[in-house]
Amino acid sequence: MGTATEYTGDDFYCDVALPDPSALDVLHEDEHTLAFRHTRPFWAVHVVVIPKKHISSLTAAGPADEVELSALLRTVQEVARGVEAEHGAAAVLTNLGRYQDSKHLHVHVHSGPRR
Ligand SMILES: [Zn+2]
Repeated sequence: MGTATEYTGDDFYCDVALPDPSALDVLHEDEHTLAFRHTRPFWAVHVVVIPKKHISSLTAAGPADEVELSALLRTVQEVARGVEAEHGAAAVLTNLGRYQDSKHLHVHVHSGPRR
């Protein structure tokens, strides 16, 4: 678990999260996607949803990633629905370019004040 908080590379998901999901607080896992509570949350409620296949970003995704994108959106919807129901509000975002820290497509589902 130490590596989850100390990781400084540029693909946390392929390097740390996907090889050992048991170290994470997983909310959803299926064949194509994984959703878990962020290891360094920016918001009071902060869940990250990722495709298991390496796709570097939303804008880099193409026709070959259709199955993963569709599965990702389904999982984002399910997670966001849960957060919205529990907290009355949620936001969904994915960063691109200089805003994107980890170069593996990931969608933040968050609610509540910034930490
Ligand atoms: Zn990756």
